[in-house]
Amino acid sequence: MDGRGNAAPAIGIDLGTTYSCVAVWKHDTIQIIPNDQGNRTTPSCVAFADAERLIGDGAKNQAAINPANTIFDAKRLIGRRFTDSKVQDDMKLWPFRVIKAPSDTPKIVVTYKGQDKHFFPEEISSMILTKMKETADSYLGKLVKDAVITVPAYFNDSQRQATKDAGSIAGLNVIRIINEPTAAAIAYGLENKSAINGKINVLVFDLGGGTFDVSLLIIEEGRGTNFEVKGVAGDTHLGGEDFDNRMVDHCAKEFKRKWNKDLTGNKRALGRLRCACEKAKRILSSNILTSIEIDGLHDETCLIDAKMEKSNVDEVILVGGSTRIPKVQSMLQEFFDNKVLCKSLKPDEAVAYGAAVMAEKLSGRGHKRFIDLMLLDVTPLSLGEELIGDVFDVVIPRNTPIPTKKSKIYVTTVDNQSSVETVVYQGERARCKDNHLLGTFSISGIPPAPKGCIEFNDCFEIDANGILTVTSEIISTGKSEKLRITNANGRLSKDEIEKMVNDADKYKREDHVYKKKADAFNALEDCLYKMKNKVKNGVCGERLRKLEHAIDDTTKWLEENQGASVDELQRKKDYLQSLWMPTY
Ligand code: ADP
Ligand code: MG
Repeated sequence: MDGRGNAAPAIGIDLGTTYSCVAVWKHDTIQIIPNDQGNRTTPSCVAFADAERLIGDGAKNQAAINPANTIFDAKRLIGRRFTDSKVQDDMKLWPFRVIKAPSDTPKIVVTYKGQDKHFFPEEISSMILTKMKETADSYLGKLVKDAVITVPAYFNDSQRQATKDAGSIAGLNVIRIINEPTAAAIAYGLENKSAINGKINVLVFDLGGGTFDVSLLIIEEGRGTNFEVKGVAGDTHLGGEDFDNRMVDHCAKEFKRKWNKDLTGNKRALGRLRCACEKAKRILSSNILTSIEIDGLHDETCLIDAKMEKSNVDEVILVGGSTRIPKVQSMLQEFFDNKVLCKSLKPDEAVAYGAAVMAEKLSGRGHKRFIDLMLLDVTPLSLGEELIGDVFDVVIPRNTPIPTKKSKIYVTTVDNQSSVETVVYQGERARCKDNHLLGTFSISGIPPAPKGCIEFNDCFEIDANGILTVTSEIISTGKSEKLRITNANGRLSKDEIEKMVNDADKYKREDHVYKKKADAFNALEDCLYKMKNKVKNGVCGERLRKLEHAIDDTTKWLEENQGASVDELQRKKDYLQSLWMPTY
């Protein structure tokens, strides 16, 4: 008994691509909980054997003899489509089978107890979460219910939702999904509380087994501790496993050259080689320098977004097992003009540490020490809806602090419109077709009225987990419809997001031109529409004929000149307005 009732405390789980870690607040400190093998991290690995299912170390240890039924990397699949090019690439390296289920969902096929079984990635993740929960159960001597689970900052709505689902499948009540780098910053903030004077800027550099995440935060120590995320960026398909893959590739080629034997068809041999490569890599970290190229280190989008110079970064925090690689450290140090990197946190435990702090704070019985801890996270990509002409209209810009709620007023676009379709996208491009479709919904029963007269209040709401809900309401009647982005309709792959952000700069100018033109086009159409109505009511004689003539001419011109320039469109509009204005 800990004097605070019988219920188990809430735990924090870092559900990693390659390793997971669980922590809890106990004895007035954060405890990283060792598993039944005494290890503080557990391989995110599940194996199906003839007679049993193994999770964690047991699964990883038998991987080489049972490669086809030993599942890892579920986090690389969760929330992705089967046809995603990264899934297709990853599949080539995986010794286990992945098939395409309805809705382009990937499913993992294993032979378990002599039978073929199909699992969703969420299910595999839930098995790992179950293992983490049980690790905590036996440490605490109580059944844990509440948990905070971490995800990469770049996880989109469906990946977050899928992770939450995995938690539910594991019988956990997921009280919050938080971003991994943010969790690491919380750990740093608490460990260094006394050393922080006022405000400091920290950059969390997380290079794990599967993902590379960078976040920039401001930690402010005052009456409480505030964590404010200013920007997130990263390469969502770069991590230690990619280094392993390169090594496996290299060794297989060397083997072929030396012995003229092709290993690539032999799953067992490849599995062995992969294990050996990972071991060799770890050893190299403490012995001699290895040379590994990392692209994207010079990608400063995170700093640019946060409008910060790299010289203003007070502390660079290393997170993720792959930051143990000396070459990674020296490259990073060089980038920050030889700044001393912060290595005081354990790179593979910091995320779970922060998650456990959040869990303790959020659980009903949260320790008073954490009452003053404030967390402000951001949304990684812009959210908005489609306007006429494939125009993406942003409602919530990227890097907006969450939770957030933003509304915009939209109007009907044709006379007597009876229903309106709201199409929700996520991305950084000006045209919808270049962004990712999250979902659509329609609202009907709109009272008849001329176009533009019926107003809708479209409200975008992102909760503290980063999950989006969109509501559209007919203002005059109060009728509303809602869209919640779930797995079924909101599958945006990490690579799509990443590509969108990376492409954004390259295409920005092109997008800008497109947007300006669409605006000019719409403005001219709008002007024509308004004038037509005005002409109908109250203009007569010579002036009427002149106006009607101009309206007809312009309408025809617009039809024939869809490719007109912004200047031409504006000139037409100015001319129309000049006809109307002088005597008005
Ligand atoms: P994730 O959160 O993506 O699961 P982790 O942060 O647990 O990843 O890091 C796991 C990765 O770190 C693996 O690819 C592992 O090989 C690598 N790793 C762990 N220790 C070392 C080391 N000493 N040197 C190099 N790589 C390491
Ligand atoms: Mg990690």
